Amino acid sequence: MGSEDIAPTSVMDAWTHAALTQTRTDRRITYCLLHHRLVDEQRNIIRQPSSTPLFDHTNYHDLQYILSLLDQLEADSDLVSTYTAGTTLEGRDIRVVQVSSGGGGTRPVVWIDCGIHAREWISPATCQWILDQLTSGYGADPDLSALLDTYDFHILPVVNADGYSFTWTQDRLWRKNRHPYNESEECVGVDPNRNFDYHFGGLGSSDRHCLPIYRGEYGFSEEESQAIRDGVMGVSDRLKAYFALHSYAQMWMSPWGYTFEKPPHYEEQLRVAEIGAAALKAVHGTNYTVGNLAATIYPSAGMSADWVYGELGVIYSYVLELRDHGTYGFLLPPEYIVPVGEETWEGIQAAITAIPLP
Ligand SMILES: [Zn+2]
Repeated sequence: MGSEDIAPTSVMDAWTHAALTQTRTDRRITYCLLHHRLVDEQRNIIRQPSSTPLFDHTNYHDLQYILSLLDQLEADSDLVSTYTAGTTLEGRDIRVVQVSSGGGGTRPVVWIDCGIHAREWISPATCQWILDQLTSGYGADPDLSALLDTYDFHILPVVNADGYSFTWTQDRLWRKNRHPYNESEECVGVDPNRNFDYHFGGLGSSDRHCLPIYRGEYGFSEEESQAIRDGVMGVSDRLKAYFALHSYAQMWMSPWGYTFEKPPHYEEQLRVAEIGAAALKAVHGTNYTVGNLAATIYPSAGMSADWVYGELGVIYSYVLELRDHGTYGFLLPPEYIVPVGEETWEGIQAAITAIPLP
């Protein structure tokens, strides 16, 4: 489905993609059958952490696996150190991986976060792919070595750790965190990507607890948005580029999310985004739509990239919606992990390379 099909004026988010385009009964049935088959297939995958090679891109992995992978990566690689940017309501660590080849904390920083929405499994898988490339390519790949001798990378593979765990055990299509806002209410969860304190409460977010875009009681009320805030603030004086990876729609988007108006740096943001999307397409022919977020997908006040740009002044602040257009949607089969990782990382590297440095 094209971007125009999923950008209704009234809302909302990728959760509506299926509903909006599956209005006819026959299509709903097809979707449901496909959904159940995919869930069954993906639950039946045997999950075994492997030590060599460290990364396994043939399957999706649960949070426990990913966290133990980070431990092992930190132990094995001189480039890697990790830190905990926050702890979820249910007590899970929100871990960030720093990849640095030196410089003593003086180099400009690229921040990439994945999995703020629980069901978008290709996002954490792509962060794992990027971590693999960064740590295995240094010293072997000249372009990557040059990149890593210029920038430090801070990568947060699973922002919404509670929600992500919930998608593995209870509900594969869960989106929000697991915050039980009201004891007497059935509805659980805040959308952490409507909870950033920059134009909090505006277009494309809701104060209704039961909606998938419930924004929370106030800006930064949630552990997940706090963790990104605190992690990013820790490198704010060096932060050069910010990428939030989501799925699905195949879009490369810049601020604003809260308004249709274009920001002061729109042309420059677009220039770099177009370089990124072209490099991405060159790998497997995947077409991305490029533009400002509100107009390209839908308004979403309180989202991370707006806060990073609006509050911290980081010009190169982007949201990527990874594959696909809805054929599989959130249930993108694991054989797509490698091609999506390849093209996304190629695009991000090209974008970073296009950013002027002093
Ligand atoms: Zn998302």
